[in-house]
Amino acid sequence: MTIVEVGPRDGFQSIQPLIPTDAKIALIEKLHGAGVRRMEATAFVSQTAVPQLADAAAVFAGARALDGLDVQVLVPNRRYAERAIEAGARHLAYVLSASERHNLSNVRRSCKESVEDYARIVEALPEGAAMRLNLATVFDCPFVGQIAVEASLALLDVLLPLLPEAEICACDTTGRATPDRVAGLFEAARARFPQVRRWAYHGHDTYGLGVANAIAAMQAEVDVIDASFAGLGGCPFAPGATGNVATEDLVWTLGQMGIDCGIDLDRLIEVSREAAALAGARPGGRVRTAISARLGLATVLDTPETFG
Ligand code: ZN
Repeated sequence: MTIVEVGPRDGFQSIQPLIPTDAKIALIEKLHGAGVRRMEATAFVSQTAVPQLADAAAVFAGARALDGLDVQVLVPNRRYAERAIEAGARHLAYVLSASERHNLSNVRRSCKESVEDYARIVEALPEGAAMRLNLATVFDCPFVGQIAVEASLALLDVLLPLLPEAEICACDTTGRATPDRVAGLFEAARARFPQVRRWAYHGHDTYGLGVANAIAAMQAEVDVIDASFAGLGGCPFAPGATGNVATEDLVWTLGQMGIDCGIDLDRLIEVSREAAALAGARPGGRVRTAISARLGLATVLDTPETFG
């Protein structure tokens, strides 16, 4: 089981007050120290749209310096993919939505234009670079509601031949998916696209189903799951969407199930507590609070909750 820590991208971008670059890198180093070995460290995106990630090149450089850390960066289009590659990125995550309406808001272009841009990025990929394809709103769109499985699969019909070795990540952007739908999508996708080497799942905890959905994905043989420390995250175009499933909630659950993901829960909780205390953060998750209380740290909890 590989956990991709996406807090430094999905989490930080949802925080308004600018986090100093040094502080971001220090948190990334602590996540690495806790055993995180794959991370979405930042996104190369418009500084006007996402001022928080204007320091992408510096944060990427800080993350890349860490031993054995697979650093992926999010890119919304070819222009920013080129910038990421120039900065030395060799693991890109390209995002487009299964919902036309969400794609127009999120990356300001039609799905067809996003596919064309992806084709050009693939052509320009340096030797040995890896690609992850993030398919957003595969279950539910904040504008049009439920998305049919067929709509996502039809988009993959077009995308997959462009780069058969890409990792394909199904994203529950609004957090409204339920475990049966997560399992159903991956079962249908696997049956139609047996050639895909790696499937991944990215879910938000808006309705409290983050862990349940991640486990449903895992039981559908998905072995790459995104999570965000302290449950930070959100989507500017999915109003009310809370953070990703909290990494500590997922690590705790996997630990209880006897599944090792290589991350030290105590050290993770320590760094998650720091992230939860960042100015402007809206932390989520349960396990950080529960374990902090058990350790007698209740007086300095970032969220006033009782443990019982
Ligand atoms: Zn997300």
